Amino acid sequence: MNFKTNKIKDIRETYLLELNKIYTGNEAASFLDHILEHRLGITRIQRALNPELRLSESDMLKVHFDVKELKKFRPIQYIFGETVFFGLQLLVDEHVLIPRPETEELVLWIVGEHKNQGPLSILDIGTGSGCIALALKKELPLATVQGCDVSADALKIAEKNAAANNLTVSFFLMDMLKPDEWTRQPQFDVIVSNPPYVTNAEKQLMQPNVLNYEPAGALFVSDEDPLVFYRSILHFAENQIRPGGKIYFEINERFGDQMIRLLTDAGYQNVELRKDLSGKDRMISGLKPF
Ligand code: GLN
Repeated sequence: MNFKTNKIKDIRETYLLELNKIYTGNEAASFLDHILEHRLGITRIQRALNPELRLSESDMLKVHFDVKELKKFRPIQYIFGETVFFGLQLLVDEHVLIPRPETEELVLWIVGEHKNQGPLSILDIGTGSGCIALALKKELPLATVQGCDVSADALKIAEKNAAANNLTVSFFLMDMLKPDEWTRQPQFDVIVSNPPYVTNAEKQLMQPNVLNYEPAGALFVSDEDPLVFYRSILHFAENQIRPGGKIYFEINERFGDQMIRLLTDAGYQNVELRKDLSGKDRMISGLKPF
């Protein structure tokens, strides 16, 4: 890389030009600000007020390696190895999906409906980084929260996240698609899941940062049977949600109507479909009758 000087303004400018070849101007600028703050502790304001600030060789190298990864479309959350979800600092790596803002909206819904209830028991199916389970435990401290996943590597991350945030959530390995392996649990008051729901057909529309780095097993389902996880979870829930308990799902916006039908056919009442902040049908809940 050729910089005019080792002043922060020149370094930033050179990298902006580089990143602008593959990211929009706003994205590139925000990535660079993130890197300067995260790696060097230089905030946007400090950088703007001290454009002549000179970076050391070792600081320049740190920025260089991050930009190199960004140019390969690696998500910045994986480059840093962390992200923030519902105010929690979480570790993430390529074994877990990067928590999405829409999932924070799902958590907000659940918290709002169960805030004033006592010691609930909650299960998060396909927990990944543990984001839903951990945010629920933080917001509903009286609840007993468990999370399960088919990936042992994901569970390791989830466990680290529980420890790092001082939250007691237990995690266990379970394949939702293999009923023979399901372990019987005491009944839950709430089951929540954000299972894979992106169809292979939709894959074509996705960006390389998602396609090349995020775990395919956490994202994609076949075009023939896109609701396979929901059916399986509803089957599991037949015995595992107590009467009067609730189920919550994050869903693909294309399947709102089909999901209403699926929950209704499974006997749930008060089935409610909600939109995310982008106005897309994104989550659904149902009440198991007494
Ligand atoms: N919302 C995620 C995405 O669009 C998908 C999450 C999922 O498959 N559960 O990438």
